[in-house]
Amino acid sequence: MKTFLMFIVLVSSSLSSATMIIPAYNEIYCPRIDDIAEIVRESDWGGHVFETYRVMSIVEEWNKSFMWATDTMITSNKTPLCVGLMDDKGAPNAGAVGTQYILMGVSLIEILETNYGKYSLQKSVNEKFVLAHEYSHFLQNLYYLEFDYILPMLSTKIKEQHADCMAAYILQLNQSLPVESTVALESFIVELADSHIVGDHGTSEQRIMAYKTGSGLAHLAKSSGATLTSTTTETIIKECGRFYAPTSRP
Ligand SMILES: [Zn+2]
Repeated sequence: MKTFLMFIVLVSSSLSSATMIIPAYNEIYCPRIDDIAEIVRESDWGGHVFETYRVMSIVEEWNKSFMWATDTMITSNKTPLCVGLMDDKGAPNAGAVGTQYILMGVSLIEILETNYGKYSLQKSVNEKFVLAHEYSHFLQNLYYLEFDYILPMLSTKIKEQHADCMAAYILQLNQSLPVESTVALESFIVELADSHIVGDHGTSEQRIMAYKTGSGLAHLAKSSGATLTSTTTETIIKECGRFYAPTSRP
């Protein structure tokens, strides 16, 4: 697996039904839990039901933790957040759409399984990082964060590194990762990073730095007694914003 992975922020989609959305490209499969049984019977996506549940439960855990922290941005969000899989057409990818969808590519899951083993801790850690990165885009969208730097490429990079920082913060606060997993996750992030300086997400050094910044901030918060269930999304956004600043509030 080399540098062909990328994460995108899909900007819009036309929703045609509750269970199947077909935007301009990529088929998106994102069922409500109630719909899954029916889809198993009717769709060849049925084989991915287990992955759908797993991906949903990971994001749900973070979302619930913030609710326990009485995070008003999360508790007052009236748009249902749909977490599921998308058909990334063999080009491993994941995405966040507005405040409505967080989507993990089927090919991306398959690549993680091939490279790290289906039930390995490392596959799980890497996958959680991808989901936490997309969840961070969801939060950026929820807060209407803007990254209006003069250079458009710089805007994207700062936004992406802000998301990497928040992803690391969420992961480290949620569970202490073993050192081996952290080291392996860093090499996974290097693989994710663009190989050239004008890439969307930053160079491998910049992405590792964003990850380490988020981890360091989370460790510092933990040492003062913070947990995910006592931390609000606003805190995480602001903490990472000290290093990767949005041009809008907060
Ligand atoms: Zn991204």
